[in-house]
Parts: sequence; structure tokens; C-alpha cells
Amino acid sequence: MTSAGANAGGRAFVTGIGGQDGGYLAERLLADGVEVHALAHAAEPLPDVPGVELHVGDLTDVPAVRELVCRLAPDEIYNLAALSSVARSWQEPDLVAAVNGTAAVALLETAWLARERTGKDVRFVQASSAEIFGQPERSPQDERTPLRPVNPYGAAKAYAHLAVGVYRARGLHASALVLYNHESPRRPRGFVTRKITSTVAAIAAGREQRLVLGNLDAVRDWGWAPDYVDAMVRAAHAEVADDYVVATGVGHTVRDFVAAAFGHVGIADWEPLVGVDPAFVRPVDPTDLTGDSSHAGERLGWRPSTGFEELVGRMVDADVALLRDRPRAQDSSRSSR
Ligand code: NAP
Repeated sequence: MTSAGANAGGRAFVTGIGGQDGGYLAERLLADGVEVHALAHAAEPLPDVPGVELHVGDLTDVPAVRELVCRLAPDEIYNLAALSSVARSWQEPDLVAAVNGTAAVALLETAWLARERTGKDVRFVQASSAEIFGQPERSPQDERTPLRPVNPYGAAKAYAHLAVGVYRARGLHASALVLYNHESPRRPRGFVTRKITSTVAAIAAGREQRLVLGNLDAVRDWGWAPDYVDAMVRAAHAEVADDYVVATGVGHTVRDFVAAAFGHVGIADWEPLVGVDPAFVRPVDPTDLTGDSSHAGERLGWRPSTGFEELVGRMVDADVALLRDRPRAQDSSRSSR
């Protein structure tokens, strides 16, 4: 095993640069002295990540991405592009299959071709997901837990996850990181954690009255996003490729998250401020996703740096600061994905 950063330098190709993790990963790689090229989704405004060379495109445009990657001849490929919302995967299952599944497999084949053409030991890291486990019989889950996805997002991620194993067996240095939920102030507001922290900040400022959620009893294993991109870099630099569960190992309910967020702004009696709307409850919801990341600990030397309360506090603080900077007139134009 080599430690993170030991393989500093080289060239990386990152997909999903406009997302939460893409930005953190690019910042991390640049700090390590890596030349970073990234696929910027044509559908979104260009992300502002200084120092990264952006290439506008779509992961599903396989010939264009293949030509680009073979021309760039990267040492490392990180596939983060995805439709990452489980809720949206019920609305557009075919698109999710194409982006999260088929296009990821095509990128694996591209990595293989680039390796053949350049003779480089190309390293491939796939952002897999705990959703591949669906409703597992046991918690915590680890790398031996059976794949039984219960939503289109998990099914598409499971296909890509299995394909990583196939290419690894073929000889590609390909690792799949089974990422459990990880959060930061960069999470879009459509995700439950950020919905909670942004609404709690607004309630504390007297700018909103109520927080309406789905299932308060769902248990998730929430970590700090920069820790998870650190695991990706460690996996790329490890001597041997493998699959790794990346999680804190500690589960909390949505209710715990709500209580911690209100607690952070000094509101102890929060229950009257929170409502439950069945429209926000998922058709099928994994009830207890908690991961055992011992394998990543042993092989990659990875461990989470940030506890639950600290994570919630950082997100609430960031939303409080955002509100301070935003005039009340803009309240009705807040984005909500
Ligand atoms: P994110 O914020 O949703 O970012 C995903 C990025 O992929 C977005 O910039 C998106 O662009 C881009 N994208 C979507 N379709 C694309 C396409 N056809 N071609 C090129 N780019 C495309 O997700 P994240 O939170 O950073 O997560 C990173 C990865 O980890 C994802 O693969 C996600 O599924 C996986 N993961 C995340 C978590 C988590 O808790 N964050 C947990 C498990 C797994 P648009 O916005 O324009 O669509």
C-alpha cells in the first residue's frame, strides 16, 4: 500500500466536476501537484474550479469522451458523473441507467483502451454507492454484502460496480468505492441534509416557519465529503485495486440530524416546527444503511476525520452565513432541486 499523495504529479481526468465531490476532488488533486482535466457537463453552467482544464461534454457521448481521454492519456480517471438523486431516478430511470450504468462501463472500456495505447498503468476509480445494497439484512454492510438495489439509481450503480470488478479481473487497476452518504455546504438543497440545514438557518433568522420532510426514522451513515474524495485518491494510488466501503460506521436517523441542526442554532423545542409530508417519502426506502470501512482502513489507511455533530454544525454555519449575505427579497427565488 502507498499512502495518499505518494504518487503526486501525473495527470487526472475527472467526470462530474460540477458536483459536490468533483470540486473537492479537483482541489485535492491540484494541491497534490496533479494536472487536472475534467469533463464539464454541457447541461450546466461551467463550474468555477481554478486550475482545472475543463472539457465540455456529456459522459453518454462515448466516442467524444473516448477520443478526449485517449488524447489526454491520463494516469488516473475518476468517474464521479452521475444523476445522483434517488428521487430523480424514479422519474427518469432510463436516463439514470444510461449515465450511471452504461456510460460508466463505456468509460471503463475507454480506460482499458487508453492503457493499451499508451502503455500507462491507468488507474480507474468509480464512485459507487451504498444504494447497491438496497435493504440489507444486516448492518453494518461491508464488501461482502450482497447487491440488492431497491431503486433505479442503485440498480444502475450496481451494474457499473460489477463492471469495475470485471475490468479489474481483466487487468485494469480499477477500484469501486462504495460511498455512503457524505455531505458538505456544497450539497444541493434537494438533498435532505442540506434541506434541513438551509431551512433551520432560515427559521433561526425568522425567514421561514416550517421544515417539511419525509421519513424521519430512516437511518443513514453521514460523513464529511472531503474525507470521501481522500479515499478516492488513496484508492487510485494503492498498489492493488479493490472495492472499498467508505463510511463512518455510525448511523443516525433523519430525526437526529434535524435535532442536531436545531440544537446548533439554539432551538431545543423544534418538534412543533417540523412536519411530515408523505410526498417526500421514497417509494422504497433503505431503512438502515451503515457501512463498515475496516477494509479501507487497513488497505488505504483511510478513516473519517469529522464526527456527526461537527458535520451538521459546519453545514448549518455555512447556511447561516449565506443568509446573512442574502437580502430578504431573494428568499422566494431559492433553488430547490
Ligand atoms: P452531484 O453533486 O450530483 O454531481 C454529479 C455531477 O455529474 C454533476 O455535476 C452532474 O451535472 C454530472 N453529470 C450528470 N450527468 C452527466 C452526464 N451525462 N455527463 C457528464 N456529467 C454528468 O454528485 P456528488 O454528490 O458530487 O457525488 C459524486 C458521485 O458519488 C456520484 O456518482 C454519486 O452518485 C456518488 N455518490 C455520492 C454520494 C453522496 O452522498 N454524495 C453517495 C454515494 C455515491 P448536472 O448537475 O449538470 O447533471
